[in-house]
Amino acid sequence: MVTCPVCDGNIDVEEEDVDEGDTVSCDECGAELKVLSKDPLELQSAEELEEDEDEPGLADDDEDEEEEEHDWK
Ligand SMILES: [Zn+2]
Repeated sequence: MVTCPVCDGNIDVEEEDVDEGDTVSCDECGAELKVLSKDPLELQSAEELEEDEDEPGLADDDEDEEEEEHDWK
């Protein structure tokens, strides 16, 4: 079970059923969600990813990885 980053609804997806880079859709809002990582299972709106592509400064942030995990909204 994982939370939809778009509507905060619960998505019934099993880690065994997806791979990094896969796209799943949210039952609640119908958003296309891309699997960013499997451990922990983390999803991001596919539309959001496309829009952010030309935005600089999102890389080089490895140090803050663990802190971001419990502040994910
Ligand atoms: Zn949703």
